[in-house]
Amino acid sequence: MLILGLESSCDETAAALVTDDGRVLAHRLLGQEAAHAPFGGVVPEIAARAHVEAMEPLVAAAFADAGVTLADVDAIAATAGPGLIGGVMVGLVTGKALAHAAGKPLIAVNHLEGHALSPRLSDRELAYPYLLLLVSGGHCQLLLVEGVGRYRRMATTIDDAAGEAFDKTAKLLGLGYPGGPRVEAAAREGDPHAVPLPRPLKGSAEPHFSFAGLKSAVARAVGHHSPEDIAASFQQAVVDCLLDRTRRALANVPPVTALVVAGGVAANGVIRGALEGLAAEHGLRFVAPPLWLCTDNAAMIAWAGVERFREGLTDPLDTPARARWPLDPAAEAVRGAGV
Ligand code: ATP
Ligand code: MG
Ligand code: FE
Repeated sequence: MLILGLESSCDETAAALVTDDGRVLAHRLLGQEAAHAPFGGVVPEIAARAHVEAMEPLVAAAFADAGVTLADVDAIAATAGPGLIGGVMVGLVTGKALAHAAGKPLIAVNHLEGHALSPRLSDRELAYPYLLLLVSGGHCQLLLVEGVGRYRRMATTIDDAAGEAFDKTAKLLGLGYPGGPRVEAAAREGDPHAVPLPRPLKGSAEPHFSFAGLKSAVARAVGHHSPEDIAASFQQAVVDCLLDRTRRALANVPPVTALVVAGGVAANGVIRGALEGLAAEHGLRFVAPPLWLCTDNAAMIAWAGVERFREGLTDPLDTPARARWPLDPAAEAVRGAGV
C-alpha cells in the first residue's frame, strides 16, 4: 500500500509518500520562516499564499524522488484541520483534485492524529494503547491512544500550549522566530536554577497544564537576568510541569505499552531526556519520533492515512476544512468547566 500525504495547516508546506510497512519513499517540506520572521509569528494570509505556490511543485518533487506516479498510490491523505483555515484548504483542495483526477480515495486527516500516530511510523513495534504527551505549537494534551480514531483526552492546557510558551519566551528574549529551537540553544548556555519561575498547576489533582503564568514571570525577569539564564530557567520550569503532570496521568491511566511524546516540542532534547527518565521510573518503554517527524511534516499525515485506509476509512470529496477539530470531542464538550 502506498499513500500520498499532504500537509499545510500552519507554516510548513509538505508532501510525502509512505508505504504501509513504514517506508518513507519521499518527504518534501518547505518552511516559511523567512516570510513570517519580520512579523515574529505566522501571518495566516501570507501562509495561505505561500502554500498555494509551494504545494504543487512539492508534490511533483515527492513523486520524482520516489520514482512513482499518481497512478501508483492507493489513496491520498490530506490534513483537513485543525489549523489556519486558508492553509488547510490549500492542502485539502489539492488532495481532493488529485483524488478526483486519479479516481483514488481521499482520506481527510486530523493534523493532531498525524502527530499522535507518528511514533508508530518511526517505531513499528509501538502497540496500542499508549499514553501520549502531545506537545506542539497549538496543543498540550495527555491522550490515551487506544487505536485509530480512539483517543481519550486525559488532560489539556487551560491557557497556552507548550510550544506557544516557547515561542512567546523567544519573542520576549529577542531570540526571534521560530522560538523553540532558539530557546533550547540559548538554554544550553544558561543556568536552569538562576531565575525563580513558577510551576503552574504542579501537584494539582487533575493532570492539566497551564503556561500563561510562566510566560508572565518570564516577562518580569527580562532585563534582570541574562537571556541565557532566563531561557534555561524557563525550559527547566516547562520540563518540571510536563513531568509532574505526566506522572499524575500515569497514576490514573489503565495499563499502557509505552510512554510516548510527539509534536514539535518533542524535538526538545531536555524534554525528551526527562520523559525517558520518567518512563524508566515506571518500567515503561519510551518512544519519541526522530526530530524531523516531531515538527510538522507530511510523512505523519501519509502514515495516519495508512492507518485509516487499513481500517477502510475514507472520506467524501465534499469533506470540509476545519479550523477547529478536537481529537476527543467528548472531552472537548466539557470545556465549559474551564478545561
Ligand atoms: P499544532 O500541531 O498544535 O497544530 P503546530 O503544527 O504549529 O501546532 P508543530 O509544528 O507541531 O506545531 O510544533 C511547532 C512548535 O514546536 C513551535 O511552537 C516550536 O517553537 C516548537 N518547537 C520546535 N522545536 C522545539 C524545540 N527544540 N524545543 C522546544 N520547542 C520546539
Ligand atoms: Mg511550523
Ligand atoms: Fe503540528
